[in-house]
Amino acid sequence: MFRLDNKIALVTGSSRGIGRGIALALAKAGADIVVNYAGNAEAAEETASLIREMGRKALVVQADVGEEEQVDIMFDKIKNEFGRLDILVNNAGTSQDKDIFAMDKSDWDRIIKTNLTSGMLCSKRAMEMMREQNFGRIIFISSVVGERGALYGHIHYAATKSGQIGITKTLARTGAPYNITVNAIAPGFIATELFLQTHGEEEMKKLAASVPLGIGSLEDVGYAAVYLASDEARYVTGATLDVNGGNNFR
Ligand code: NDP
Repeated sequence: MFRLDNKIALVTGSSRGIGRGIALALAKAGADIVVNYAGNAEAAEETASLIREMGRKALVVQADVGEEEQVDIMFDKIKNEFGRLDILVNNAGTSQDKDIFAMDKSDWDRIIKTNLTSGMLCSKRAMEMMREQNFGRIIFISSVVGERGALYGHIHYAATKSGQIGITKTLARTGAPYNITVNAIAPGFIATELFLQTHGEEEMKKLAASVPLGIGSLEDVGYAAVYLASDEARYVTGATLDVNGGNNFR
């Protein structure tokens, strides 16, 4: 059950953090992985080594997924190397600790491009291939913030995370005739560099205490992605799966 043997998966932003956790979980289930990253080549190679140690293939591709030209080059490389793409995980993302009073339009544009425009660009290229194959799985890594708003006024981040859920529901309709499912995962607090950078060590401890199951791990999100990517999840589409330890902040 939940095997992904002979499947090819692209996980954007899989050099570290949640993306790496997802890439390793998909590889453990049998998939070969395209490891995408923005600037941290060393970390991306480390993810790839861990995948190869499991006996799976790993192709490392540097590309800023907010830039159309770079996304096109990445997909051309995937086509040349594997000839198909079965699973796309739109994970690459970033945030910034600014509320509306501190924010200017360039801050807004940067976060929208990295977190949201990227999902449109990658999904378009992936769905073209998936439509031909008559099979595909697309997963957006949204956030609890996309469902309930951000705690400290990060409206640009919240807009991208809510936007991903809107795209998920809409693309689910577009993809259905071609056997392409589109779902989102909404993680709660997961211990990554992004989380620490946004909240700091002290805040993180306080936030952990507010969640029934505390802070989540990379594997918690990885295993949810394996399920949504599997054949067994064929009837699940347009859904948002909460992986948040019972986080119920309002
Ligand atoms: P990290 O900062 O730990 O990792 C971010 C990853 O995204 C890195 O691999 C980074 O590559 C890559 N990346 C960033 N910008 C780009 C870009 N323009 N093009 C390609 N890759 C890029 O973040 P997290 O693992 O915490 O977050 C991953 C996703 O999970 C995000 O979408 C985030 O919103 C979401 N999320 C995180 C939560 C958390 O608690 N941590 C909670 C809910 C959602 P490089 O290493 O090269 O810089």
